[in-house]
Amino acid sequence: MRNLNEECGVFGVWNHSNANQITYFGLHSLQHRGQEGAGIVVSNGERLTGHRDEGLIAEVFKDNAKLDKLTGNAAIGHVRYATCGSGGVHNVQPFLFHFHDMSVGICHNGNLVNATSLRKSLEEDGAIFHSSSDTEVMMHLIRRSKASTFEEKFKESLNVVKGGFTYLMLTKDALYGAVDPNSLRPLVIGQMKNGAYVVSSETCAFHVVGAKYIQSVQAGEYVVITNDGIRTEKYTTDTTVAISAMEYVYFARPDSKIAGVNVHTSRKKAGRLLAKESPAVQADMVIGVPNSSLSAATGYAEESGLPYEMGLIKNQYVARTFIQPTQELRDQGVRMKLSAVEDVVSGKSVVMVDDSIVRGTTSKRIVQILKEAGAREVHVRIASPEFLFPIFYGIDVSNSAELISAHKTVQEVCEYIGADSLEFLSVEGLIDAIGLTFDAPYKGLCMECFTGDYPAGLYDYETRYLSGLTPIQKNYLANHKQYFNREGKQYV
Ligand code: 5GP
Ligand code: MG
Repeated sequence: MRNLNEECGVFGVWNHSNANQITYFGLHSLQHRGQEGAGIVVSNGERLTGHRDEGLIAEVFKDNAKLDKLTGNAAIGHVRYATCGSGGVHNVQPFLFHFHDMSVGICHNGNLVNATSLRKSLEEDGAIFHSSSDTEVMMHLIRRSKASTFEEKFKESLNVVKGGFTYLMLTKDALYGAVDPNSLRPLVIGQMKNGAYVVSSETCAFHVVGAKYIQSVQAGEYVVITNDGIRTEKYTTDTTVAISAMEYVYFARPDSKIAGVNVHTSRKKAGRLLAKESPAVQADMVIGVPNSSLSAATGYAEESGLPYEMGLIKNQYVARTFIQPTQELRDQGVRMKLSAVEDVVSGKSVVMVDDSIVRGTTSKRIVQILKEAGAREVHVRIASPEFLFPIFYGIDVSNSAELISAHKTVQEVCEYIGADSLEFLSVEGLIDAIGLTFDAPYKGLCMECFTGDYPAGLYDYETRYLSGLTPIQKNYLANHKQYFNREGKQYV
């Protein structure tokens, strides 16, 4: 099975004379969503041109001339994050296709769960793929559709792909954006003072370009932006809101709003509820792990009445540790990234709040760093539930083998990371902290990695998932029968 999960950032603009620069700035503020590759495609109303490469957006366009050449009034861009083995410039987006009758730029955030089978049937039907990315599947579906207009073809294709996705597409006449039927991956629309429309994975990109938020693209919707204005349409009514909880827990920037909820506020509340559920009365202070858990740590400190201290410092010039492909490099990455402030923690009992434990590498290293700096006790508190199940809709965790909580009990994980105590936020606590109010399971969140409940189904991943279930995962599913796969299948 190909393993090409992608959690990325997308940005687009329509009707702005500096479309290239606006997109560059937008992508720059989405850089936390992917550091492996970046690209921009622009349209001048007649022709589409693009540039893409591996690396950070600032590296890809280090040579100003590369950005200056992309002149036009509309653009889409992408920052990419992908797992090892799937690198290479062929997979960097946006893709730009030149057909005899039109050109199309396309980029995608998320992961399709039926891409492998779609690709197989498309290939049997004569399609030739140029990359190993899911994004190309959409283009083939559109080109093969018998529907009469480009928009109708797109609409039809959106009903064929399954999983978590947002797509942006650019033609000389329009900018399109689409969101999956569960709105797993967010997409928001804003407007600039001069009237230009922008679309983005996160609202944090609006601040930087001076745009105002106007609306989100909802589950099962697409948006079409042309010189006549903006129009949103439904491509399916078979929708259930299930926004990825991980966007709030870890992925999104704290200043972004998703479905009206500020990410920082939700993290802080998660920290508060964690302090209520799992206090650490004997501790001297609370410390966060920069940057991802700082919001939760301040919430924990406020609720518990313990001082919030700066016990760890992050070297801001090291990219996220997940982008390192091997465990050995990952171990090294954590050390490069974080140092303890000895004068703060020495001789003290500290509560270390982090946002999540995936493989356990980060927590283990941090406990070790704190103990080396003289901390007497380290009580680890995690502002999300145990990460028990793989994520198939985007984000780099599609394998149970890598999930420490799928293999070890809380007590065993505690011993593994060398902490004096370890507690996780409850599933209910996280739902409460985020505070969505949709009339849907988990109030509109996708909690698959905590509950094994996959709102968009599993498709090509089902066999591998089922055969790889660990005793801990099976036990969880057996004890939580209310959590089911939305296709009606119960996995125990
Ligand atoms: P671990 O070392 O346990 O595998 O990783 C957990 C840490 O990595 C957390 O501190 C979290 O902030 C960070 N992290 C980096 N990328 C991801 C991701 O894609 N998902 C999650 N949940 N955490 C991530
Ligand atoms: Mg972190």
